[in-house]
Amino acid sequence: MSSIIFEKSMPGRRGATFPKSDVPIADAIPKQYARTSPLALCELSELDVVRHFTALSKKNYGVDTNFYPLGSCTMKYNPKICEKIAALDGFASLHPMLAQLPGCGGFAQGALAVIHDLENLLCRVTGMDAFTLQPMAGAHGELTGMMIVSAYHRKNGAAKTEVLIPDEAHGTNPSSAAVAGYEVRTVPTDPATGLLDIGAFRGMASEKTAAVMMTNPNTLGLFNPRIKEIAEIAHACGALLYYDGANLNAIMGKFRPGDGDFDVTHVNLHKTFATPHGGGGPGSGPVGVKAFLEPFLPAPRVVKNDFFALDGNCPDSIGPVAPFYGNFSVCLKAYAYMLMTGGAGLAEVSEQAVLNANYVMRSLSGHYDVPHLKTCMHECVLTAKRQAERGVRAVDIAKALIDKGFHPPTVYFPLVVKEALMIEPTETESKETLDAFINAMIEIAEAAESGPKSLHAAPVSTPVGRLDETKAARDMDVAFL
Ligand SMILES: *Cc1c(COP(=O)(O)O)cnc(C)c1O
Repeated sequence: MSSIIFEKSMPGRRGATFPKSDVPIADAIPKQYARTSPLALCELSELDVVRHFTALSKKNYGVDTNFYPLGSCTMKYNPKICEKIAALDGFASLHPMLAQLPGCGGFAQGALAVIHDLENLLCRVTGMDAFTLQPMAGAHGELTGMMIVSAYHRKNGAAKTEVLIPDEAHGTNPSSAAVAGYEVRTVPTDPATGLLDIGAFRGMASEKTAAVMMTNPNTLGLFNPRIKEIAEIAHACGALLYYDGANLNAIMGKFRPGDGDFDVTHVNLHKTFATPHGGGGPGSGPVGVKAFLEPFLPAPRVVKNDFFALDGNCPDSIGPVAPFYGNFSVCLKAYAYMLMTGGAGLAEVSEQAVLNANYVMRSLSGHYDVPHLKTCMHECVLTAKRQAERGVRAVDIAKALIDKGFHPPTVYFPLVVKEALMIEPTETESKETLDAFINAMIEIAEAAESGPKSLHAAPVSTPVGRLDETKAARDMDVAFL
């Protein structure tokens, strides 16, 4: 295992030397605030530092290094041209206050035009009437959406207390609804179809229902064709229908939530529209609504009269949900990606993503159990049930994949599938890469049959081996700091 940079420190070694000061040293820092001992920095040469961090960077795993089939996360390749555009001086150096200062909006016309245009493009892709780019992640979009739902019901004097959410939903759905002040009721999945149990749903929907949050395709990678019926039941009791659009990569150019009677949606720019993410950020979760909900969108809004401006005069708005206008550089990358790919191109993205997921699922279905072996959307869910009988669990398979050079898929999610392995290949991978991954998965399935114990030690090729992950998260050892 390589040492940390402080362990490499040698007393007196320097990366740079400065000439002695030839002016008197000002006593600028009051005595009581000044240090009494030297700062404990590591002492190294420039070369030591360069080698240390270059070595660390090579330990990093990312989409730029290899396949990253993390289900539900859409870890697709991010074209470098989008980074270049986001780094253009006119965008990157723009002061975020310019658009808001009286008389200065003229200097921010380009940025405001991008926001306005991207909102319109998202309307076209999703079939919604208006968008806000403010929310900074998918979960933040959900919370914003639920706040809009709540503001709408309040305005109409409707006392609604519950949000209905299917049991296979992403964990952020129930948390967002709860943070917005709603009681969450869980609708079961029909085990036979892997889709929402409509009978149970009908029984639970009532005048107390404020909203129904749906992900379609759901987290099992299955598209629910009975969405109109679900919308009718929801709307009949005055509830709004929320679309978790984080899985938009499966349906672009094929299905628009706005056409499926959804009232509110968020989309994850950092998944569908190729902006790099991982390790918690950066993200962007724009929220789209039907026209009757537009007055409730976060303020300020970008408007276009003779030129672009920010309009803060929105009396029914839920108010700002982010500083300035959200994660602007993430929005820029998504905008560049959408223009570059084009409408027909986005449909092709989804087709290829769905094809790749089905290819992986069918290629592995002889080696792993597949709970719902029918055409999936952009991701597929397998289970390690068969391997678990030999003592090899989903976690062992995930760790063994690391030794074979692959990032593991999502495991133990969705919760409705025991020993779940959720694989999302995305459209950007070649058949050769998919085949290499499939072969690695087959080799692991064979090892589970012939010598299951060998998989318990994995990973053996990484700087740190198998950890107690709960302990690592809850009881972090950062003693060297
Ligand atoms: C990723 C995801 C979210 C949450 O998005 P974040 O940007 O991680 O907050 C919500 N729902 C679904 C279905 C997702 O895949």
